[in-house]
Amino acid sequence: MEAIKRGVKPRELTDKVHSEIVRLLKEWGIGFDNYTRTESETHKRFVRDFYMKIYNNGFIFTKVESHLYCENCERFLPDRFVVGTCPYCGYPHARGDQCENCGRLLEPTQLIEPRCSICGSKPVVRESKHWYFDLPKLQEAVQRYIEENPNFTEAVKNYSLNYMREGLKPRALTRDNKWGIPAPFPGADGKTIYVWMEAVLGYISATIEYFERLGDPEGWKKFWFDPEARTLYFIGKDNIPFHTIIFPALLLATREGYNLPWDVSATEFLTYERKKFSKTHGIGIWMDEALKLAPADYWRYALLYLRPEGKDTDFSLRVFEELVNSHLNDTLGNFIHRTLLFVWRNFDGRIPKPASELGEEDSKALEKLRILHGKITNALERIKIKEAVELVMEVAREGNRYLNTRAPWKLIKTRPEEAATVIYVASQYVKALSILIEPIMPFTAEKLRRLINLQEPPSWDDALSPLEPGHPVNKPKPLFKKVKAEELVRKLEEMRGAVVKRVDVSEFRKLDLRIGRVVEASYCPESRKYVILRIDVGDRVVQMVGRLGEHYSPEDLKGKLVVVLTNLKPRRICEQVSEAMLLAADDEGTPVLLKPEKDVEPGSKVF
Ligand SMILES: [Zn+2]
Ligand SMILES: [Zn+2]
Repeated sequence: MEAIKRGVKPRELTDKVHSEIVRLLKEWGIGFDNYTRTESETHKRFVRDFYMKIYNNGFIFTKVESHLYCENCERFLPDRFVVGTCPYCGYPHARGDQCENCGRLLEPTQLIEPRCSICGSKPVVRESKHWYFDLPKLQEAVQRYIEENPNFTEAVKNYSLNYMREGLKPRALTRDNKWGIPAPFPGADGKTIYVWMEAVLGYISATIEYFERLGDPEGWKKFWFDPEARTLYFIGKDNIPFHTIIFPALLLATREGYNLPWDVSATEFLTYERKKFSKTHGIGIWMDEALKLAPADYWRYALLYLRPEGKDTDFSLRVFEELVNSHLNDTLGNFIHRTLLFVWRNFDGRIPKPASELGEEDSKALEKLRILHGKITNALERIKIKEAVELVMEVAREGNRYLNTRAPWKLIKTRPEEAATVIYVASQYVKALSILIEPIMPFTAEKLRRLINLQEPPSWDDALSPLEPGHPVNKPKPLFKKVKAEELVRKLEEMRGAVVKRVDVSEFRKLDLRIGRVVEASYCPESRKYVILRIDVGDRVVQMVGRLGEHYSPEDLKGKLVVVLTNLKPRRICEQVSEAMLLAADDEGTPVLLKPEKDVEPGSKVF
C-alpha cells in the first residue's frame, strides 16, 4: 500500500527499507548469522515446494466466496487494502484484517461502510475462488503439542488454547494480489500466497540459505529434523497464534517430521509515555532518531531492563533518564571507574597481588560473584532476560557495597597489603562485568575490555577466571554520561521539526487554491455522513464529496464562501466524482471550514 501511495514498485520500496534496516541493526549492535528477506529465490522455491507437499497430503481445498472489490482501482481489497468501521467497537479506521483499537481480527466483509484504502471509493462485492489451509484437520495434533510442550509459559499456553477454544477455522492461503509468491496449486494462476502464510516459512528457508552459502546444502536439516535441535522464537504476544498454532500446523501437515517450535518467548506490550506506539501518530522514538539522542547501549539497557516479561510495561524518557543516570552512570560506571582508577593510581596500573590468605569479607565477595554469575546464566537459559539484566546490575551494586565496606582508600594508608587484596577482588568483579554485559551492551563491553587489556572475544565462562596479579590496565575513562529527559525531548522535537520544515516553496505552489462559493449542496444518496457540493471557483463549477455530513447540513453550506483546492486528481467517493477539497481547521477532530476574512469574488487565488 505504501508503494502504491508513493507511486513506486513494491520491490523498489522494500529494497530501500531493507538496506536501511540492515544499517540500523548494525548500528544498534544486533548481529545475525543470516539476515535475509522473503524475496530471496531460495525462499520462493522452498515455499512453493512446501505448499505442494501439503496440497498432496490433502490439507488444502478451494472455496468460492464474496470479496470486496474496488472498481476504481480495479483490484480486490484484502486485508489492509480496505478500511471501515469496526463491527465490534465502532472505531472508524479499522483495517480489513484487524481493528487497531480493540485488537480483534477481522474479515474485510465484516467492516461497516468499507472504503478502499487507496482511493476512498466504496467497494462492491465480487466472487473469487481461493485456496484454504484445512486447519481443523490438525486441531487435535496442535492442541496436544501445545498442552504437552514443557517450555511454554502459562501465558503462552493459555493464549494459544483460548484461540483454539471455538475450534480452528480454515485459513485462506491465497490472495488476488499482483505481488507475492505465485501460488503453486493447479488452477491457481494469478493468485499469490498470503504474506503471513509464507513469511513464517522464512525461518526454514533462511537456514537453508545460510548453509547453501557455507557450501553445505544439507546442513540445514540438522536444525529442523534432529530432535536434539531447538528453535526459539522471540515475538510480541499478538503473534503467539502464528508461532504456536499456524506454523506448527503447517509443519505437521508436511508429515516429514519437522521439529516444532521448542519455545516461544512472547512479551507483553510496551507503551510509550502511556500511549500505544504508532508510526502514523508519531508516538515513539524511531531507531535512527534514538541513536542521535544517546548511544545504542543506553537504549539497549533500558529496553532490556523494561522488557515486558509477564506484564505490560511503560517506557518514558523520565524512566530512561533514571536508568542511564542511576544504573549505568552512578552504579555500574562508577564502580568500574573507581576500581580501575585505584589500580592506576596506587598500583602502577597493574592488578595488585592479594594476601596469601583472603579475609572473610573478601572470600564472601568472590563467592557472591560466583553465585550471581550462576543466577545470570540460569536466567538467560530460562529466557528471563529482564531478570538477567537486573542481576548484572546487582553485580555492580555488590561491588560498590564491598568497596564501601572495605574502604581501600583508608586501608592504603595503614594496611596497604589489605588494600591490595580488596582491589584484587574488586578487579575480578570488573573483569566479570566486562563479559556479563556483553549481550546487553556490546559496545561498552568492548570498551571495557580494552581498558583492562583483555583479548577478545572472551567466552561466557571466562567471566570467573581471575585477572592475574601484575595484569596491566589502561588509564580509565568514564564509560557513561548522564542524560536529561528535557534535553532529549527538546532534541527530538528539533529533529522532527527540521523534517517538517523542509518543504520546498515550489511544492506549495503546485496547489491551486481558490475562494469558491457553494452553489449546490446535498447529502450523498449512499450515506448522510457525506455531502456532495458543487462549487463555483470562478472559471468553472467543480464537484466535491466530503465527509462533512456529521458537522454541517447541506442548507448550512449552500451560499458559503470556502477555500478550495481545485487541481486535485478526480477520485470516486460514495459512487460520485470528487475533484476538489476544502480547507478546514481541526478542532479536536471536528472540521471547521475556513472562509475569507471579508467577501471576495469566487475564483480569487489563495496564496
Ligand atoms: Zn480504490
Ligand atoms: Zn474494534
